[in-house]
Amino acid sequence: MTNEQLIIEGKKYVMNTYNRLPIALVKGEGAWVWDADGNKYLDFVGGLAVNSLGHCHPKVSDAVALQARELLHCSNLYWIKPQVELARILVEKSGLDKAFFCNSGAEANEAAIKLARKYAKIHYGPEKFEIITMKRSFHGRTLATLTATGQEKFHKGFAPLPEGFKYVPFNDIEALKAAVSPNTCAVLLEPVQGEGGVYVAEQEYLQQVKELCEANGMLLIFDEVQCGLGRTGRWFAYQHYGVKPHILSLAKALGGGVAIGAMLAREEVASGFQPGDHASTFGGNPLACAAGVAAMTAMDEEQVITNAREMGSYFIKKLAALAAKYPLIKEIRGKGLMVGVHLNRPGAGIVDYCRKQGLLINCVGRDILRFLPPLNITAEEVDYCISILEEAMAREG
Ligand SMILES: *Cc1c(COP(=O)(O)O)cnc(C)c1O
Repeated sequence: MTNEQLIIEGKKYVMNTYNRLPIALVKGEGAWVWDADGNKYLDFVGGLAVNSLGHCHPKVSDAVALQARELLHCSNLYWIKPQVELARILVEKSGLDKAFFCNSGAEANEAAIKLARKYAKIHYGPEKFEIITMKRSFHGRTLATLTATGQEKFHKGFAPLPEGFKYVPFNDIEALKAAVSPNTCAVLLEPVQGEGGVYVAEQEYLQQVKELCEANGMLLIFDEVQCGLGRTGRWFAYQHYGVKPHILSLAKALGGGVAIGAMLAREEVASGFQPGDHASTFGGNPLACAAGVAAMTAMDEEQVITNAREMGSYFIKKLAALAAKYPLIKEIRGKGLMVGVHLNRPGAGIVDYCRKQGLLINCVGRDILRFLPPLNITAEEVDYCISILEEAMAREG
């Protein structure tokens, strides 16, 4: 089937919840993907931060194929070998103590919200259930996580929303202090905001948030669904700051392309959950966890996080050179290979032009180009991206 045929069938049968670009991707290898008409693209969207090892990394694909022949599913009524292995890897790398597995970022945050409330109820009583989150944040699309998301456009049409969420501006410690009440049980934030437009937390701010949490019996929850697992040039974004959360949520890159999410917590906090308090039929299933073990192992063995740090600086240096030349670039933000280019106009035209020239990029909030390439990207691939971007910017003037 061609792009056009697939789009016609898709419009007929698939629910209309995405503004999709007019191509269907059918194959991927490394940082490159192919559409149904055989056109090839360099992928700087990276499956929205999922394809951190590039597409179809052989270690991940082989592990999936092998596990698919051993055991696909058995339920959490039993111990699951790849789940135990993945939990050990995540605990050792994160410095947190226990892992709960689910299937997506929203579910990981949902689990974090439930754990924070349960923990607060046990230790402080039934009124301490409020969670403060940040404006411009994104935490998922379930009812609780869309409510936690500090952007009104995601709330519209879905009232009544669950109680107990408050929003404050990001990087504003006074606003946070003013919002804290005796009923606040947790602060939830992304150390680097993703969907909101790539906004990076300030060092002093995170330090102060942590101190505020400790002084008020509140848990600190970091949503590292997008910025975690090497994306920013460290295993976890929080490691740049030396501010360790009580709870950490992960998903996106965790399965090397396979759906899986995880919620990690410190021992004391994790003990807020007892058998029966939370569960997921597919959470931590053998297939997804085998993919996760393979992905985390490959990230280690191939030093992709060091590469993310190096290629991130290289990319930002090249973007800065473009900014010096083209005044339509207002600001460049980011850490590692999580990069945003804030324009002084809508970015749709640039996204469109780049795609036609063989480069996939993404635009958030209308005027912010967001780049989430594989972490094992090469300097040649970065150069290729920059050359097409430059053409696009030259055309925009
Ligand atoms: C993508 C994302 C989510 C939601 O993850 P899903 O897998 O789509 O449910 C939550 N938080 C952040 C920071 C994200 O980027």
